[in-house]
Amino acid sequence: MNKFDLLANVIFPDIHETIDDLEKRYPQRPLKENAEVTRFAPSPTGFLHLGSLFTSMVAKKVAKDSDGVFYIRLEDTDTKREISGSGEDLLKQLNHFNVTPDEGYLGDHEEGNYGPYKQSDRANIYKIVIKQLIKEGRAYPCFCSSDELEEIRKIQEANKEIPGYYGKYAKYRDYDIDKAIERIKNNEPYVIRFKSMGDHNNKVTFKDEIRGEISIAENDLDIVILKGDGLPTYHFAHACDDHFMRTTTVIRGEEWISSTPIHLELFETLHFPLPKYAHLPVIMKLDNGNRRKLSKRKDPEASVAHFIEVGFPVEALQVYLMSIANSNFEEWTAENKSFNIDEFKFSFNKMSLDGVLFDQDKLNYFSKELIAKFSAEDLYNRVLEWSKKYNTTLYEHIFDKKDYVIDILNIERGGEKARKDYCCYNDIYPLIRFFFNDQYEQIISGQLPFNENISKEVIKEVLLDFASSNDYSLGNDVWFNSVKQLSIRHQFAENNKMFKANRDAYLGHSGDVAEMIRIALTGSKQSPNLYFVIQILGKDEVNRRINEIVEKLA
Ligand code: GLU
Repeated sequence: MNKFDLLANVIFPDIHETIDDLEKRYPQRPLKENAEVTRFAPSPTGFLHLGSLFTSMVAKKVAKDSDGVFYIRLEDTDTKREISGSGEDLLKQLNHFNVTPDEGYLGDHEEGNYGPYKQSDRANIYKIVIKQLIKEGRAYPCFCSSDELEEIRKIQEANKEIPGYYGKYAKYRDYDIDKAIERIKNNEPYVIRFKSMGDHNNKVTFKDEIRGEISIAENDLDIVILKGDGLPTYHFAHACDDHFMRTTTVIRGEEWISSTPIHLELFETLHFPLPKYAHLPVIMKLDNGNRRKLSKRKDPEASVAHFIEVGFPVEALQVYLMSIANSNFEEWTAENKSFNIDEFKFSFNKMSLDGVLFDQDKLNYFSKELIAKFSAEDLYNRVLEWSKKYNTTLYEHIFDKKDYVIDILNIERGGEKARKDYCCYNDIYPLIRFFFNDQYEQIISGQLPFNENISKEVIKEVLLDFASSNDYSLGNDVWFNSVKQLSIRHQFAENNKMFKANRDAYLGHSGDVAEMIRIALTGSKQSPNLYFVIQILGKDEVNRRINEIVEKLA
């Protein structure tokens, strides 16, 4: 037996399968030509970042557009940074945004023939591959302590050299195998490193689906592929998993471009065909005129949980992220009068190369457009579901008043001139709370914003006249005429123009009268369309409120 075989057997005595066995266990997927297999590979180290939602959405879209497969793999090899339960949370959030996988890690279980989909459950697979690399002399044990590595780093820093474990600094690269075996048998701690054949002075070129050809220095680092805890590092797991899960396009953030030479060398050494790569731009923020990455610490919008909490409809985020993904998407929505991203043909060519700026105004715009298009019943159901968790005051006011709330939400909904008041569910309550009596009482207990140029006496007279004369059978188109008549009866001009032409003859105009009624019924100068407010409150409640205000003005 040669020495490499001996070393491999000492390190992995229980591993008997080979890469060929894995090739058979995970055969090529029976998909049509050009079908893309893509994946989202989050680490369970915290919340779902907006950039990750973006990546996962693009990955799913690419698979779906080509009748391919989109799967989720949980990259949980960094046990030190792992936050318990965050894998399940990520899945819930992805589900919330309809980024549902065809197979893979699904939180409490997995589905699919290419698993396990959780890296910590794949240790055996990595060992099979590494055993073979050791036998071929392309991986070796390294016994460096962290102090030794720190020492190397300091020397490199002092010599202004590239940091890392390579060349003459790769102390165990050509270490005597007998000695290595002895140290392993003595239970000394070690990691396994890949033996690179690269040269930093050479360039490698690879094609990025978004950026075209990228030319970058070859890898010459002997990177760690298996840590002391028996789990692989990202680089090695990426090569093994994307190969055996038969990924066709690796879609990931642009921060991985600089490590791609490592991956190219790993794929080549393992004789795995290279997948396509698409490195997506990061989402940035403008901060005092400077672009910077969205920060977990400073920016609430870095976390998708924020958008769920304030109640952005799922579709608004999807549409917004698609507008970042493809520069022609907005034009497409206008031309096709559609916000259905499934109907849009996504293309890597239309993707911006630099970091894209997060644009809250644009998200708000899409969201308002979408919410305005929902039916009142759909909106009610969504708001009910959302408020149960995120706005219990609203929930308590609406859960048993479905018809009443649907009437409220229906005010000026639909049609060409639909109102676009709400950009998220959180906006709804402040605008409609006056419809609920307990809230109305609270609002009017404060200062009422009546026009100070009009005397209390006049306001009371107008309000009482309105209460006794309003005709609830009138339609919206003619009702305002009755307000004009009311105005005329109390020495207000029929309209603003007449008032302006002869200010001395009038106390104000019909707009002032409508404002009095509005304030009396809603406590505010702004409200949804007054005609509908009156119709929904109904005569009894309108008159009750008017009498209450008249008393208050006394
Ligand atoms: N686990 C890696 C990350 O969270 C995945 C990168 C990739 O998609 O390959 O950044």
